[in-house]
Amino acid sequence: MKTDILIAGSGCSGLYAAWNLPREKQILLITKRDLETNDSFLAQGGMCVLKSEEDFKSYYEDTMKAGHYENDPVSVELMIRSSQEVLQDLIGVGAEFARKPDGTLDYTREGGHSDKRIVYHEDVTGKEITSHLLEAVKQLENVTLVEYTKLIDIVEQDNTCYGGVIRKSRQTRITRAGKTLTWAEAGFDEKMLEVVEADVTILATGGIGGLYRHSTNYRHLTGDSLAIAIRHGIALKDINYVQIHPTTFYSECEEDRSFLISESVRGEGAKLYDKHMNRFVNELIPRDLLTAAIREQMAKDGTVHVWEDMRPISKEEQTKHFPNIVAHAAEQGYDTSKECIPVVPAQHYFMGGIWVNHESKTSMERLYAVGETACNGVHGKNRLASNSLLESMVFAKRAAQDIVADEKQGNDAEDEKQVALRKNLLEGVDLQAYQDDSSITETYRRIVREAIQKADESSSDFKDEEEYRRIQERKQQIIAK
Ligand SMILES: Cc1cc2nc3c(=O)[nH]c(=O)nc-3n(C[C@H](O)[C@H](O)[C@H](O)COP(=O)(O)OP(=O)(O)OC[C@H]3O[C@@H](n4cnc5c(N)ncnc54)[C@H](O)[C@@H]3O)c2cc1C
Repeated sequence: MKTDILIAGSGCSGLYAAWNLPREKQILLITKRDLETNDSFLAQGGMCVLKSEEDFKSYYEDTMKAGHYENDPVSVELMIRSSQEVLQDLIGVGAEFARKPDGTLDYTREGGHSDKRIVYHEDVTGKEITSHLLEAVKQLENVTLVEYTKLIDIVEQDNTCYGGVIRKSRQTRITRAGKTLTWAEAGFDEKMLEVVEADVTILATGGIGGLYRHSTNYRHLTGDSLAIAIRHGIALKDINYVQIHPTTFYSECEEDRSFLISESVRGEGAKLYDKHMNRFVNELIPRDLLTAAIREQMAKDGTVHVWEDMRPISKEEQTKHFPNIVAHAAEQGYDTSKECIPVVPAQHYFMGGIWVNHESKTSMERLYAVGETACNGVHGKNRLASNSLLESMVFAKRAAQDIVADEKQGNDAEDEKQVALRKNLLEGVDLQAYQDDSSITETYRRIVREAIQKADESSSDFKDEEEYRRIQERKQQIIAK
């Protein structure tokens, strides 16, 4: 099958890239699960914006300070200066943000921000933004959306990407401009494995949380693009920069996504206890220090979690401020007004990724990476709260604009010889090599894990083989039922 642009991933970065590409381009957007199952839908807090020129210096400084000044200053400035444009685009597709009685935007503030500059929609900002982007993209005649279909490799030669290898599934669902298409109508063959020829490929496959025993990310986000990049010698950056959230609800089940117990719970007075129910730390120290203290205590106690006590916060206050947390704890059998809940640090965000320039181009020609899978250096060593939705979209739009500019400059023009070479390459892909899905999945997980561990020997929170075996067994049991 042939398309102009292949996008892997239906989070805010993939969708916004599609939305910003010219309508005359045929776009194939594939996604591993359904269109809504991605971290963009989970973002709660909000999205930062430059609310006025006076705030530029302070917003810039907060971002740099959070990133330990390892941020790329150009990327940071580009992100901040493009934020109003992104905000207006989002409002244009129908996203609504909290407003004051006079109709102006209401801004909130999170840890690390020295001013209120975050637009939000209740505690479901990501859903509000991404669902509206999705609805807008669903209307487009030039975008074919393909669910339950994954990118398993790229097809490249001489450091130029000509598309990808995809794996369809029995659940694969295809829609374009609101209509459901058959595989044939969409231009696919009837086999599960297929080569997609594309002039440009955009990797928008999100983070790596699925590789960790505890993560707030969706479990199917396993850094597939990173594995592909590693195999093809594409440059990576800062892949050991992984943000850990110190307090998430502990779950016995390896396949559960970790539920965040927000920092503000501790801010309101919640305490942390060891196995003897003794306080062991000042709960309000910075996230990384608190994570280290919790891990140290767990190691000392030989436990898999510590306890968080919300009882210092009155029952009324708990229900008013933290209804979702109280409800989640209740679902798990804990009454937060009467007892402590088990909490553990969990992987939350990936600052590193596939190296990209300020136009989101990777080190390979015709290959772009956007969103959490990419690293343009905006976040440095540590992400400032509510900068990631914004960064994902700012640099997705820049990718779209660069693709257009490249074409205008004739950079993508090919002579007859190159066309013939490309044809040979695509026809010569040995799909047999991709037959074994489990083995590829396992290899990809391993190479990403090893690359991160090589970059930072202390990264040790990945799932181990025993956990994968148990998950596999459980899946088999479910299928058998
Ligand atoms: C609980 C939580 C709260 C958060 N809160 C905030 C917040 O308040 N503000 C903020 O700015 N950020 C927040 N973030 C971070 C932010 O949500 C993400 O960084 C951002 O949404 C990433 O967008 P993305 O498009 O890169 O990836 P995602 O939205 O995760 O999308 C990745 C997509 O890639 C697909 N995919 C994966 N592998 C493949 C493959 N091999 N082939 C095809 N498709 C594939 C997935 O199915 C998915 O559609 C939060 C994150 C979490 C987990």
